[in-house]
Parts: sequence; structure tokens; C-alpha cells
Amino acid sequence: MEMSFASIAALLAAARSLVITGHIHPDGDCLGSVLALYHGLVAAGKKVQMLIDDDIPAMYRFMPGVELIGKPADAKLVCDALVVLDASDAERIGKVGAVVAAPVINIDHHTSNVKFADYWLIDSQAAATGELILRLLREMRTEITEDIAICLYTAIATDCGFFKYANTSPSTLRDAAQLMECGAQPHLIAEQLDTRPLATLTALGKVLQTLEFHAGGQIATISVTREVGEYAQNTEGFINYPRTVEGVEVAIMFKEAEDKNVRVSLRSKNIDVSSIALTFGGGGHMRAAGCTVTGSLKDAQVKVVAAVTEALDRTPL
Ligand code: 5GP
Ligand code: MN
Ligand code: MN
Repeated sequence: MEMSFASIAALLAAARSLVITGHIHPDGDCLGSVLALYHGLVAAGKKVQMLIDDDIPAMYRFMPGVELIGKPADAKLVCDALVVLDASDAERIGKVGAVVAAPVINIDHHTSNVKFADYWLIDSQAAATGELILRLLREMRTEITEDIAICLYTAIATDCGFFKYANTSPSTLRDAAQLMECGAQPHLIAEQLDTRPLATLTALGKVLQTLEFHAGGQIATISVTREVGEYAQNTEGFINYPRTVEGVEVAIMFKEAEDKNVRVSLRSKNIDVSSIALTFGGGGHMRAAGCTVTGSLKDAQVKVVAAVTEALDRTPL
């Protein structure tokens, strides 16, 4: 059922115990949104647990409360509501969906959202799920503490490339200003997010050597083998480099993962990469999407580059 902010606030007010989760391969928006809603609901006297079916990348571990995020165990968990943030389909939350028995509330901003929840609030105009959580907390009359401000600023800033991407709106900037007034310090948050182990930078050097161009220079790809991926610890942000090359319309990163799977990240300047990702069982936003392709690195490269080339041929730029 489609919900308004007021009706979600009423559902949350009626619940006594809740689980909050976000997507696997968690990013700043997923984690910041989960944590901010957690702080708001705890302040309202609720019993709340945060579960994410994945490891938390080191760069996000500065956010207040992050140490309280657990991984789902095998035992069933019964509560009044499972709140799923920044995830567009049920598979995106890994095994949390299977272990938590409760009505599902989904708050999300992906165009590819398949409306899998019992109750949903989806706004694809929002730059980040964090913007929607801020609106919800206003509706709930929650005090925006410094902890909440840090989490929500991180959520919003990371999903709009620190206010550089096309999803940044005047209200994104107003939200950021309010969060700053509530105690978020952008320069400190940016410093935390930009700090990485030397190994990651060394790995970036290796990955940039795999740069290839297709479709007359409109597609740029980079590839991360399993060995390099493990050494890098975190390849977040690597895709931004091929994206900056003059003439590139679509950047693609291929990353070898476990079980013969290849994780694919797509970034575009204009064409809709979300619909391309959807054809491979993934999803995302118009200009930033991802999917997992089963097969070798080479298979994934050939298939995805062909699909993007075809989309470019169809789209007058
Ligand atoms: P990234 O390339 O940073 O992993 O993801 C870019 C965007 O696409 C994010 O908004 C992310 O949530 C979405 N996305 C990435 N991979 C998948 C996927 O396998 N399935 C779905 N539904 N969305 C994805
Ligand atoms: Mn996300
Ligand atoms: Mn997001």
C-alpha cells in the first residue's frame, strides 16, 4: 500500500518493537538512513534493532551508532515492523527478509523499486533516502540531534556526489544546511569518507591500467580482479575516474565477486542505465545503477558493453 509521510509516522508510532535494515554492499545513504531512523525511534521510546546482511566498510564506521548494527542470525525474529531503507527489491536485503517476521515498510528513492513491501513510500525525485528520512523525522517531530545530523548529512552528501550530481535539488541543499545547523560538519565528514588505506590507492593504480574504451570512446570500462579487489578492501569511488574522461557517456566497473559472479556498476551522464541494469536483474537510478552477472569477467564485459552500446545507438544524445 502506498503511504504518505504522515501515515508512515502513524505506523511507526503504533509499533513497539522494530527492525531497521538496508541493502547489502551498504553505502553512505543506506547506513546513514538506517542510523538516523534508529536514533529517532529510540528517542521515541521504541525497541529497535538494526540488521544488515553484510560487512560495514571502514570509511563509514565514524557514524554514531554504527557499532550497534548487527548481522542477521538464523533464528527467527518477531517484531511489529521491518523497516527497509534504500533498497528497491526484497533480494537487496539478503537474509534479513527471511529471518524477520513482521509487516514490511519500505522507504526508498530508486526508480527501479518493485514495490515489494506491505507499505511503501518511494520518491525517485529525492537525491537520497536520507532526504526522505529527514522529512519523516520532521513529521514525527523528532529533535534532529547532532548524531542524527551527522548520519543524514552523510547519507545525502554521498548519494549526490557531494552536491555535484544531477539529482541535487534546491531542497537537497536546504536539507544539508539544516543538518549543518544541527551539528553536522561537512569538512570533518568529507575527511572521514576520503580517508582510505594505502592498499586501496595502490589498487586504484592497478585498476586504472585496465581502462578500455568502446563505442567510439562513449563507454569507458575498468575491471577489478578478485585478487586486486581483496587487496583494495574497498573499491567505492573507483568508477568516478573513467567517468571523468572527455567524451565518455557511460562508465562501467566490473568486479569479480564470489561464486563466479561479477558485480557491475554503471554511471551515465544522460542515458538511463537503471533500465539496462534491470535487464540483468539489478536496478538503481537513471544515472547510477548496478547488477550482478553470473559468468567470467570476460563474459560480463562482453554482455554489458553490448547492452550499453545498443542503448547508446538507440538514444540520440
Ligand atoms: P553501485 O554501482 O554504487 O553499487 O550502485 C549504484 C546504484 O544502483 C545504487 O543506487 C544501488 O542501490 C543500485 N544497485 C546496485 N546494484 C544493484 C542490484 O544488484 N540491484 C538493485 N536493485 N539495485 C542495485
Ligand atoms: Mn544505496
Ligand atoms: Mn540511496
